[in-house]
Amino acid sequence: MKILRGFMKYIGWCIKGIRRKIRAMSPAQKRMTTVAIFGIIIGCLMGNGIGRASEKRKSEVKVQEAMAEVQKKADEKYDSLEKQLYDLQEELNDHEKEIPWNLVLVNASHPMEEGYVPELTEIQPGYSVDTRIANELRKMLADAEAEGLHIEMCSAYRSVERQQQVFGDSMKDRVKSGMSYWDAYYETTKNVALPGTSEHALGLALDLVSSSYTGLDERQKNTAEAKWLAENCHKYGFILRYPEGTTDITGIVFEPWHYRYVGEEHAQKIMELGITLEEYLEEHYDSKAGGK
Ligand SMILES: [Zn+2]
Repeated sequence: MKILRGFMKYIGWCIKGIRRKIRAMSPAQKRMTTVAIFGIIIGCLMGNGIGRASEKRKSEVKVQEAMAEVQKKADEKYDSLEKQLYDLQEELNDHEKEIPWNLVLVNASHPMEEGYVPELTEIQPGYSVDTRIANELRKMLADAEAEGLHIEMCSAYRSVERQQQVFGDSMKDRVKSGMSYWDAYYETTKNVALPGTSEHALGLALDLVSSSYTGLDERQKNTAEAKWLAENCHKYGFILRYPEGTTDITGIVFEPWHYRYVGEEHAQKIMELGITLEEYLEEHYDSKAGGK
């Protein structure tokens, strides 16, 4: 209390001193002092205001930047989700793409549709094919003939029952030559398709050989007829179905005599790319077409 009283006394003394000084001032000095005091007060108020406004602007910029960042991330996420959706749709479309009749795959892992029998047209006595390929096949054989080549047909449409017989006969021959049943079966599967897994049952496959050499072995590829067929078959919609070095893909050994109809457009692409039907289908329709 004593200190407070002392302090109050001091303040009173100061005010008296200031009053005395003000009284001693000329009117012009009084005006100057008043203007100076007002100036200081307004300056303080304005300075505070400007500071606050600038702080506010800084905060607003920060909020705007943060919002822009959030928007950018949301846009990126949206774009990426949209792309994923597009890719999935594309994949789905590929799977849904229906395989046309002339590209139907029959191999060890894609057996024939049970009970399927094509509408047949006889090309030569005992040799028939799917009616839809008869004209082009006839034209191919006639054009080869016109060039002095002699192509012999040694197999065309074979029913599943006939295939069963061919497989059985081949196995029997091997057993007769001293092989065990298991070995005979295994060796036969290398050369003869299991019943239900042969393209011949589609009526779209043919075995064509030279009349000068009718053996069904690799030497067939050296005949003039085989060479002409390999070069020209695509013009008539045919492909060499089991080319050299593709056993891992087709599951069948090199057969320079076995031709398969796929239609001109597909044949052109397959022969040009030097790929198998399995690879072509994998690329355009499905991802699991392999023959093994
Ligand atoms: Zn064949």
